[in-house]
Amino acid sequence: MSYVEKVLENLKKQNPNEPEFHQAATEILTTLAPVVEKHPEYETAGLLERFVEPERAIMFRVPWVDDSGKVQVNKGYRVQFNSAIGPYKGGLRFHPSVNLSIIKFLGLEQILKNSLTGLPIGGGKGGSDFDPKGKSDREVMAFCQSFMTELYRHIGADTDVPAGDIGVGGREIGYLFGQYKRIRDEHVGVLTGRGLTYGGSLVRTEATGYGLVYITEEALKARGDSFKGKTVIISGSGNVAIYACQKAQSLGAKVVAMYDSNGYVYDPNGIQIEVVKDIKEAKRGRIKEYAERVKGATYKEGCKGIWSIPCDIALPCATQNEIDVESAKTLVKNGVKYVAEGANMPSTLEAIEVFQKSGVVFLPAKAANAGGVATSALEMAQSSGRMFWSFEEVDKKLKDIMVNIYHNIDNASKEYGYEGNYVMGANIAGFIKVATAMMAHGIV
Ligand code: NDP
Repeated sequence: MSYVEKVLENLKKQNPNEPEFHQAATEILTTLAPVVEKHPEYETAGLLERFVEPERAIMFRVPWVDDSGKVQVNKGYRVQFNSAIGPYKGGLRFHPSVNLSIIKFLGLEQILKNSLTGLPIGGGKGGSDFDPKGKSDREVMAFCQSFMTELYRHIGADTDVPAGDIGVGGREIGYLFGQYKRIRDEHVGVLTGRGLTYGGSLVRTEATGYGLVYITEEALKARGDSFKGKTVIISGSGNVAIYACQKAQSLGAKVVAMYDSNGYVYDPNGIQIEVVKDIKEAKRGRIKEYAERVKGATYKEGCKGIWSIPCDIALPCATQNEIDVESAKTLVKNGVKYVAEGANMPSTLEAIEVFQKSGVVFLPAKAANAGGVATSALEMAQSSGRMFWSFEEVDKKLKDIMVNIYHNIDNASKEYGYEGNYVMGANIAGFIKVATAMMAHGIV
């Protein structure tokens, strides 16, 4: 049995009932085989065993009082996975599906993603099974204050800097930051995604979606092509999806469909993103309303049908495992040429295989959606330097980072003999930097 196989087998035995963590670890470790073969010293140093074991995993009770006066209790998590190249960095997810397995899969991915940005940030992730949907602002505030009343003792501007993710946007970050500042009495960059009046960075809101489009644009450019005239499908209608849509359309693409967790809208004339923003950002409504407001648009219940709409480029931007093998086959049959992941692990392992075998250019999440965390690191730099960069400055840095990531993963895929396999390229390029730092630190 190879070193990688042994580590994976042990991981599954030691962490039963964590299917998402197993899935992410399998995807990552199997692609690292050529690297560990080249570096036998990694096995002696137990490097992979240490790489898949979080440095620290914190689980805590989050009690709060709802509007009817009833006490509610949620679970809180922060997994501080790897600090070899910088302080832990990664978002907080508030969604009823959150459990330790999901936070660990996200944390493991985050290590390599953060490494790929070229910036000094380690990997972490956290969240809660709290569902902000349908809650009043006061309830969300009560929850966030309770969550931070435990979390504050584990984080810090040079230790661990959380950010947003599903269910955690500007409103939640504001409440979390307010409570941190109140308890610690310090106004520091302990969270990113902050509002512009209290230390936030321009472009952070747009960063993941814009970054996704920038890296896809570079992949298109490398093949003598562009977004101009392309038909695009974007799943989700949250933070990542909205700004991916906006940027793709500004480059001449036509985005024809988007969804939320209830169903999808199809607009053959091209999605009017201002309408989506009004529904999802301003009113916290349902995407269904789009079809009621825009002539020619239709709405269908259920999400999966979106992948049967023919497109040139698919940008899954909602959640994990939203493209299964069947949806992948349908996309390929209908002529998809590029799939770039805005969400984390939106394609199952089998779906990725279908894309790769069919010659689809597949850009995995840890490279394709790294623009968000990269801009978070730019926010950290501005905070610690007490500076404030213009929109153009941050946007240019973001674009340069995404272009660099593309060439980095492309070069790594070539160097290891897997040209065009960007799952290999991203995992290898991200891992080598972390592994080198871990080896330098000794057995810690
Ligand atoms: P948001 O909460 O803003 O939006 C999530 C969107 O996905 C919503 O439209 C939501 O629908 C939909 N969605 C969530 N769960 C499901 C589900 N089970 N089935 C169908 N649709 C679903 O989150 P973000 O846009 O921030 O995050 C989206 C993805 O991008 C996540 O995987 C996240 O980890 C990843 N990501 C986000 C980054 C960021 O900077 N925000 C950075 C890097 C990755 P509804 O409105 O009905 O809830």
